[in-house]
Formats: sequence, structure tokens, C-alpha cells
Amino acid sequence: FTVLGIETSCDDTGVAVVRSDGEILGEAIASQAELHEAWGGVVPGIARDAHRDALGGAVELALRRAGLSSAAEVDAVAVTVGPGLEICLRVGCEEAVRLATAHGKAFVAVHHLEAHVLMARLACHPPPPFPFLTLLTSGGHCQLLLTRGIGDHQVIGSTLDDALGEAYDKVARLLELPVGGGGGPALESLAREGDPSATPLPVPMRNKPSFDFSLAYHRRLKTAVRLAVERASEEERASPAFRAGVAASFQNAALRHLEMRLTRARDSLGCAPDTLVLSGGVAANAELRRRTPSPRDDGAPWRMVVPPPRLCTDNGVMVAWAAAERLKLGLTDAPDVEHVRARWPLGRPLQGGEEAPL
Ligand code: ATP
Ligand code: FE
Repeated sequence: FTVLGIETSCDDTGVAVVRSDGEILGEAIASQAELHEAWGGVVPGIARDAHRDALGGAVELALRRAGLSSAAEVDAVAVTVGPGLEICLRVGCEEAVRLATAHGKAFVAVHHLEAHVLMARLACHPPPPFPFLTLLTSGGHCQLLLTRGIGDHQVIGSTLDDALGEAYDKVARLLELPVGGGGGPALESLAREGDPSATPLPVPMRNKPSFDFSLAYHRRLKTAVRLAVERASEEERASPAFRAGVAASFQNAALRHLEMRLTRARDSLGCAPDTLVLSGGVAANAELRRRTPSPRDDGAPWRMVVPPPRLCTDNGVMVAWAAAERLKLGLTDAPDVEHVRARWPLGRPLQGGEEAPL
């Protein structure tokens, strides 16, 4: 069967037609990066209007690229219903409800974060079986999850303050890099030119026995970066070597923090799960992909699965695929805009006194 997926939760209008075996038949994405550039971040009202302007054309283009002339020719329509910007989610959801109703198609309401996580099962052959450990790092989230199945995710660790993508965006802004659509890619390129030990920065929660993350306040990584830039002379701040050094040092400290969390989780694991999935926008980062630990210290196999970079950031494929996974289990939803949920955590946190299942 085939699914038309629509994503409008933030600043990308993504649409795709995906077959149930994972074949991407057609795809279209309209980025709003330039629109938000002048504001230094995503402006919800502007994002909503841009989704409204782009969505019809993106649906048409994705269908055409899939060799289809109308949504009447797919088997199901899926849409991200949360979490995200409410007024933006509504644009996608209204259109998906309209298409599903007009053509009498199955409707699937998709959780944006589950869609990020499940990308790994489309991108990899054979798909990683459940359960697997997931590191989800995106613009709004930084979490370590035990993914047991569709709709079954347990949160093992979360950020206590900023998300990793958010931290990249803030440092990019501090260095006056282009941040429309996220400052991560620009910061990553700048970091490639720099010395990661140029600016001494603390690795967050270094000695804290926890699975949680902190990119801002604990041992003050964000503050340390800001002070390093503010204390530099004007001349220094304009120097390419200084700027690249700050970028590389920030990236190094942040990724070292992630590495330490993952190593801790990995070393606490029993024999299963044996797979680590990287997902979310920051998983597009080459340095993160390179540094993430592979074999376990005891030599037991530990497989890392990560989607190609363009499928790590928001897109329509992940929505269509997450819906395909649900449809295979017979899960559908009533076509209704009331599914929209701006705040919607993935999975459940550990209850008081409950041990992490490691
Ligand atoms: P969420 O998925 O948590 O709701 P989101 O959808 O806004 O948030 P994504 O699209 O998944 O976030 O990811 C965007 C984030 O990823 C931005 O913060 C962006 O800076 C960051 N990002 C994208 N590419 C890279 C990269 N190469 N290096 C570092 N960060 C990156
Ligand atoms: Fe996202």
C-alpha cells in the first residue's frame, strides 16, 4: 500500500508518498529558512502563512513525482498532529483531513518524534528490530529512549534545559552565523575549520551519574561559550580562527557530553538491545555520526543505525513511513483536526523509584 505524508509542525512544509516496503515514491519539501532569517528564529504566524501558501503545491509535486495525478490514488493520508506549533500543525491537519475525507482514504495521526525515531527502520535494510536504544537530538528535544515498539517508547534520559539543536542554534546566533532553518549546519561547517581545544569549555554533568542531558545550565556550557565570546576583543571576535575555535570547542564539549551519556547507557546494558538509533535534526551532523560509540568495551556487537542526513531533519517521508508502520498493525484514526496536540511528550518518563530498564 502507499501513504501520503504531510509535515507542517515547524518551518518545513514536507510532503511525501511512501510505499509500505519503504520505497520513497515521491517527495517535496518547501523550506522557510529565508523567511525566518531576518527574525533570528521561527515566527509562528509567518510559518503558518507560508505553510498555507506552500502546502497545496507540495502535495501536487510529491504526487506527480510519484507518478500519481491525485490523492485518490494513494491508500492512506497521514499527518503530523504534534508536538509542534499549534497553528502550523493545523494547516497540515486540515489539508490531510480534507484529502482523506474527499477520497475516502484511511487517516493516520502521526507523532512527530516517533516519526523521527522510526526513520531508522526505513533507512536500514533489514530494519533494526525492536527493542533499540534511541538518541533523539533535534531542535526541541534531546532524549535517550528505549524504543520497544510502535507507540511504545520509554524515556531513559532527557535534557534538563536546552535541546541540542537549540544549543547549536544559540551558539550560531552568538557567532552571527545564518540561523534561518536552524544554525546547526553553519556551526558544523565553521567548527570543521577550528581547533576543538581553542576555547576551554566545561563538559556538562561530567561526574553526575545520570542519563539526563544539560546543554545550558549544569556546569554552564552555554554561559561559558557566551562569556568566551563576550570577553574577546573586537579584533579577536572578527578573526576567523577565533570564531572557528569557539564553534569547534562548543561542538566538542557538547558531543563529549553525549558520548559520556551513551557510554554510560551502553555499559549498563544487558545483551539486548544491541542497536543504537540516532534520530532528529542534529543526527545529520557528521561529527556526531562519526563519534558515536560503536563496539562495546566487552566486545559485544553494538550496531549503530542512522538515516541519511536529509531524512534526519523534518520531512514528509518520516510522516508517511511512521503511518505505514502503524497501518501494518491495523492502527488508524478518525479524520479529525482535533487530533492536533502542540504539547505531546513521546513515551512515559520513569516513575518515582523506578529503575531504568538497562
Ligand atoms: P523537534 O523535532 O524536536 O520538534 P524540530 O523539528 O524543529 O524539533 P528538527 O528539524 O528535527 O527539529 O531539527 C532541526 C534542528 O537540528 C535545528 O536546531 C538545527 O540547527 C539542527 N541541525 C540540523 N542539521 C544540523 C547539523 N548538521 N549539525 C547540528 N545541528 C543540526
Ligand atoms: Fe523535528
